[in-house]
Amino acid sequence: MEDKTIFEKIIDKELESEMIYEDDQVIVIEDINPVAPTHLLIIPKKKIATINEISSDEKSLIGHMIFTARNIAKKVGIDESGYRLVFNTNEDGAQSVYHIHLHLLGGRKMTWPPG
Ligand code: AMP
Repeated sequence: MEDKTIFEKIIDKELESEMIYEDDQVIVIEDINPVAPTHLLIIPKKKIATINEISSDEKSLIGHMIFTARNIAKKVGIDESGYRLVFNTNEDGAQSVYHIHLHLLGGRKMTWPPG
């Protein structure tokens, strides 16, 4: 059996992390190494290693993750100033935890192209 990722351990409450939000499908936590004044992670409870592994049955889960990010952005007051949503995928995408998660970044002006 594959080792659990850090996010599975948080979902299973084996590791402590303050939940900004939780429902039956997702959790939202603060990134431990923030790169913006607001840096939250929207993580599905279901383990999917990368965006490449999403099946058509999971399309509504991905929509729910984006909708949750939109609600949280409003709640923390960055909806009008703006924010960035990011899924890093595999090595060139700089993915480090192989359990999909949506980064919600805001509170400063982002640059483009990203590094
Ligand atoms: P990625 O590089 O897209 O896979 O993003 C993984 C993110 O998880 C990084 O931004 C890390 O800082 C963050 N991270 C790693 N461990 C933890 C943890 N225990 N709690 C919160 N965030 C974490």
